[in-house]
Amino acid sequence: SIYGDYIKSVIRTVPDWPQPGINFRDITPLLQNSSAFRKLIDSFVHRYQDMELDAIAAIDARGFIIGAPVAYELGCSFVPVRKKGKLPFRTISETYTLEYGKSEVELHSDAFRHGDRILLMDDLIATGGTMLAAAKLITRSGGHVVETATIIDLPEIGGSSRIREAGFGVFAVCS
Ligand code: 5GP
Repeated sequence: SIYGDYIKSVIRTVPDWPQPGINFRDITPLLQNSSAFRKLIDSFVHRYQDMELDAIAAIDARGFIIGAPVAYELGCSFVPVRKKGKLPFRTISETYTLEYGKSEVELHSDAFRHGDRILLMDDLIATGGTMLAAAKLITRSGGHVVETATIIDLPEIGGSSRIREAGFGVFAVCS
């Protein structure tokens, strides 16, 4: 993205949070900066405006912040992919392993029609586990994941390679 370096410059790294040794990429300064936030959303809109998407699926919770304005601008529907236990209707779920323990993402079983063209969004790719579980869930529900998109990829951790090896495209504004 042409704004990649600028957007990266307004993301803050917080050392040793939430645990010692973790450098947390904090996007709140980017969201506070209205011109940076607009450039971020425009970067996604520009990339996807001619891709005839049916829906944006975005991952709980920071994915929602970017997914909703992109869906609004592209005139397509918005589908939340949520953490376990948050969706009220019938759900399908996908479990994935974290460094310590397991996590689970859920989707309403009526979220997509068969063959719907979906863009999957989240704020950051580290191990890729969250994005990959969500992409598998959408595929199982009959949706076609056109691409996965994120603000930040941490390529040295290998998550984006792992997602690509599983057959899904990855677009990152900053890496
Ligand atoms: P992964 O599953 O790729 O290991 O981790 C990515 C998920 O964890 C995303 O849903 C993301 O929101 C969250 N995450 C992990 N590390 C960070 C970080 O440093 N900054 C932000 N903003 N989110 C993170």
